[in-house]
Amino acid sequence: MNLFTETNLSPDILKAIGELGYESPTEIQKQTIPFILSDIRDLIALAQTGTGKTAAFSLPILDMIDDTSRKIQLLVLCPTRELCLQISKDIKNYSKYMDIKTTAVYGGSSIVEQMRSLKEKPQIIVGTPGRVIDLINRKALDFSAIHWLVLDEADEMLSMGFKDELETILSETPETKQTFLFSATMNKEVERISKNYLTKPHRISVGSINEVKKNITHEYYVVGYRQKKEALKRLIDANPNQYSIIFCRTRMETQEVADFLMQNGYAADALHGDLSQAQRDTVMKKFRLKNIDILVATDVAARGLDVNSLTHVIHFSLPDDPEVFVHRSGRTGRAGKDGISMALIKPEESRKLKQIKSATKIEINERFIPTGDQIIKAQVGGVFEKLFTEHEDLFEFDDSLIPDLSNFTKEELVHQLLQFQLKDLALYYKDKHDLAEQKLSSRDDDYSRRDRGRDRDRDRGRDRDRDRGRDRDRGGKPRRKDENMVRFFFNLGKKDHLKKLDVLDIINKATAGGKTKKRAEIGDIEILEKFSFFEVEKSFKDNVLSNIQSMKFKGKDMRAEVAN
Ligand code: AMP
Repeated sequence: MNLFTETNLSPDILKAIGELGYESPTEIQKQTIPFILSDIRDLIALAQTGTGKTAAFSLPILDMIDDTSRKIQLLVLCPTRELCLQISKDIKNYSKYMDIKTTAVYGGSSIVEQMRSLKEKPQIIVGTPGRVIDLINRKALDFSAIHWLVLDEADEMLSMGFKDELETILSETPETKQTFLFSATMNKEVERISKNYLTKPHRISVGSINEVKKNITHEYYVVGYRQKKEALKRLIDANPNQYSIIFCRTRMETQEVADFLMQNGYAADALHGDLSQAQRDTVMKKFRLKNIDILVATDVAARGLDVNSLTHVIHFSLPDDPEVFVHRSGRTGRAGKDGISMALIKPEESRKLKQIKSATKIEINERFIPTGDQIIKAQVGGVFEKLFTEHEDLFEFDDSLIPDLSNFTKEELVHQLLQFQLKDLALYYKDKHDLAEQKLSSRDDDYSRRDRGRDRDRDRGRDRDRDRGRDRDRGGKPRRKDENMVRFFFNLGKKDHLKKLDVLDIINKATAGGKTKKRAEIGDIEILEKFSFFEVEKSFKDNVLSNIQSMKFKGKDMRAEVAN
C-alpha cells in the first residue's frame, strides 16, 4: 500500500509520485505535508539535502495551488543553478498530471530566453536570488499573487553573500504570503533573517545531528601539517576503486590538493567557487560519469552535486561546525550502501575532534596511516575486486590470442601480472618511511605557527624534489618552463654551506609582507658549488631583487639577479 494516501494529497499528485516510486513519506514529509496543508504559520525546517525536502514543501503546495489562475503563486529561492534545475525538475515531475507551469530562472544563462519563458505565465518560479532581482528590475516578474515563498538552503544563500538580494525579494513579495525557510544549519545570519522576515514560525528539525547514518564507518588519522598530502595519497592508495569526495576548507586548499593528486596521476579534479560556471559544470559531469573518481571540493561547491554511490568521504580539513561534518559524511552511505568517512586531524585539532564527537554522538575511531606493505596488499585486493565485479566493459576474448603459457604455473602467472600492474606503486613505497610510526607526540600540540610555515615550505621543496625524481624516471625530460616564475642567479653556493632550507628561508623573508600578504610561490632551487639558482613567482620579482641585497647569510652579503 502506498502510505502517501494517508496524507490526503490529490489523486493527480499521488499518481505522479507513485510513478516515481515514492511509497511512503520521508521523515520531513511526514511533518511538513500536514502542517502546510492545514496551518497558515511560517515554517523553519532544519533539514539537509537528501531528506526529501523538495517534495516536503512542493507536494502540499501543489495540492493547494490554483491552477485556473495564471499568476505566480509559489516562489522558491535557492543558492545555485544546479539546485534550481533540480528543484524545478522535481516539481515538474510532481505536477505532471496538473495544469501547472514551472519556470527556473538562474544566472549564467540567457535572461532573454528566461523572460520569454515567463511570458507563458508560470504559476511557480524557482530561481537564484541574483537572477530574480535582475528580472524584478526588468519588470518581468509579477509577485502580487504570491502565496508561498520558500527559501531553500537559506544558510548557503547567506554564506554566498545573497543577504541583500534575499531581503529585497522578501520585502517585494506580499505580506500575506506564507514563508518556509529550509536550512541545513542554523547560524546567526539565518536566525536574523528568520527573526526579521518570518512571523512566529513553527520549527521542525530532521535528519541532522541526532540522525546520523548508522551505515557509515568513521575513522580519523592524526598527521602533522607537513604530512597531510602524503597521508592523503596513502589513504587513497590503501582504498582502491574508490569514488570519493575530499572536502577542504578553502578554495586555495581545494585547488592545491587537487593539483597534488593530478600531478601524482590520480583521476581527480577540483570543484570550488573560483571556477566559472562552465568549468564547474564540466567537473561535475566528469565526476558523475566517473571519468574522474576523486573530487576535491569545498562544502559550498559540493552542495550542487547529486551523486548517490560515493564509497568514501575524506575530510582533508575538519570543518568548524559539527553539523557540517555530519552533512559531509552523509554524502556517502546512501541508497542502503555502506560508506566510509575518513578525517585527517592535525595534532593540535584534538579538541575540535572531541567537540565534533560529543556534538554529533558519532563514534569516530583512530586508525593509523597504512604502511607501504598494507597499501600493496590492499591494492592486490583491489585488482581482484575489479576483476570479479566489473563485467560491463569486458569483451569476448578469443583464447587463441593467448600465447602458450604452459611453462608457468597459475601462481606464477598471477604473481607476474600483479607485479606488472602494481610495479609503480611498489617502487614508490619501497623506501618510504612509515607515517604511522611518526605519529606526533604531545610536543606537537605546541607546534607553532612559525614551525607550520616552515614545514609548509619544506613540504613544497620535498614535493618538488619528488617531482624531479619522477621526471628523471620519465627519461630525464626537462620540466616545462613555468611562465609565472622568474629564475634568479644567487651569489652563494655549497662552499658557503648554503642548503635548500636556507634558500627557502631567505626567499620567504625577502618576499614577506608583500602587498597581498600572499606567500610567494617558490619553484626550482639549484645549489651549485659557488652560486645557485632559484625560481620565484613573477609578481615577487622586485621584492627579491631589492630585499635580498640588504640581507646577510652567515655574515656574507647576498646578491640576486634575474638569470637569463
Ligand atoms: P531532496 O532532499 O529533495 O533533494 O530529495 C532527495 C531524493 O529523495 C530525491 O532524489 C527525491 O526524488 C527522493 N525522494 C523524495 N521523497 C521521497 C520519498 N517519499 N520516497 C522515495 N524517494 C523520495
